Amino acid sequence: MCGVVGVYAPGQEAAPLAALALFALQHRGQESAGLAVGEGTDVMVYKDLGMVAQVLDDRRLPSLRGDRAIAHCRYSTTGATVWENSQPSFRIGPRRAVALGHNGNLVNTRQLLDGLAGGRDRLVGTSDTDLLTALLADEPGADLVEALMGLLPRVSGAYSLVAMDGTRLAGIRDPFGIRPLVLGRLPSSEPGETQGWVLASETCAIEVLGGTYVRDVEPGEMVVLGDSAGPRSVRFAEGREQLCVFELIYFARPDSYMLGRNLYEVRRRMGEELAREAPADADLVMPVPDTGAAAAAGYAEASGIPFREGMIKNRYAGRTFIQPSQALRQRGVTVKLNPLPDQVRGRRLVVVDDSIVRGTTTRRIVEMLRRAGAMEVHLRISAPPIHHPCFYGIDTQIETELIASRLDREGIRDFLGADSLAYLSIGGVLSGIGLPRERFCFACFDGRYPIPVPYDPGDRKSILEGTGVAG
Ligand code: SF4
Repeated sequence: MCGVVGVYAPGQEAAPLAALALFALQHRGQESAGLAVGEGTDVMVYKDLGMVAQVLDDRRLPSLRGDRAIAHCRYSTTGATVWENSQPSFRIGPRRAVALGHNGNLVNTRQLLDGLAGGRDRLVGTSDTDLLTALLADEPGADLVEALMGLLPRVSGAYSLVAMDGTRLAGIRDPFGIRPLVLGRLPSSEPGETQGWVLASETCAIEVLGGTYVRDVEPGEMVVLGDSAGPRSVRFAEGREQLCVFELIYFARPDSYMLGRNLYEVRRRMGEELAREAPADADLVMPVPDTGAAAAAGYAEASGIPFREGMIKNRYAGRTFIQPSQALRQRGVTVKLNPLPDQVRGRRLVVVDDSIVRGTTTRRIVEMLRRAGAMEVHLRISAPPIHHPCFYGIDTQIETELIASRLDREGIRDFLGADSLAYLSIGGVLSGIGLPRERFCFACFDGRYPIPVPYDPGDRKSILEGTGVAG
């Protein structure tokens, strides 16, 4: 996933604003955080492994001066969680100094690496973002915008970028708009003060700054900040939006809006659809906290079965799905969720979650509920089964790790130890969203990849280090 932010706030310090906006995007990446600021023609970067509040604390921020900033929190799809892969990535090249934050995953890393003068030895880290930054620092062009216009047509994959050099800041969305990126206006603190602007992965990051959502950055569009006239739109490619539907189902915060829809409401309606498609005879509906909450509320409303919390989440533990290794994921779930035995004991439960990827977390949840005395556990999932890997920035690159690619429905139910299991259909997901299928990427459900992925798995990953890395 990853969260990206860009702030241009003439007359103000941009770093505290960008840090606050990034804090609102913490759910998109918990491995590292960082910020680049621009003052005059200088660019300074501070980044480290850790959560946003740990890295960008009150001791650091005052020394990060300037009216422009980009910020990033990282979730690696595969590969090492090391400082060198934290972002913003920064490079001083023969033509410019540039900082870059990337949400997504490129699919033509090998070709891009072949085109980098000096090759792999030029890279500091092993992420595709590092490669992109090195290419951008080398790219001919009078300024950042010209360089991006030269480079982007050679780049294939999913990318929502924030880029900054000594004079400009740009927000860019790939021609398929796989990952989201929105533009907002910052409030003026003084009458007559020059307007400020913010770019962010989600609208919740604009909200925390007291800003106003203006519009989505369009697929194939670059929005350039730094001019007194306001944001400038530059189109580098024809766009055809194929937004990742998982952003709406699970990844993005429920208080964010995408394509004009509030995501809590979208998920609640998906829960209603799920109750219609897959009813269950049960005493209580309960969510897997927190991401199953909205769909569980919808299921309860549509089914007439009472809603009750049955598990409590330790809010300070990371998302299990976001942990980079299976070992950490397995350890994570035991520290993260605790049952409420008095609510669960002797009851027939409908347990609503938003997805099953590998199945290990869900299996532990079912075990935990049974140990707490649940009489029956009926799993209801507010998304279809995930049959295919994602090559656009989500940690499902290995098909055999996906439980639905190995087992049929009954096999999955048996593995999970549930009394019944049902998934929402693609039609049910679309009814919940209220938009046509053509607007979205559904590739992990139906295998129809909007951006061609290389046939050779070695080209998809493993290019920049032994196991492959994404932004
Ligand atoms: S393959 Fe799945 S997770 Fe990846 S971008 Fe498409 S819908 Fe999203």
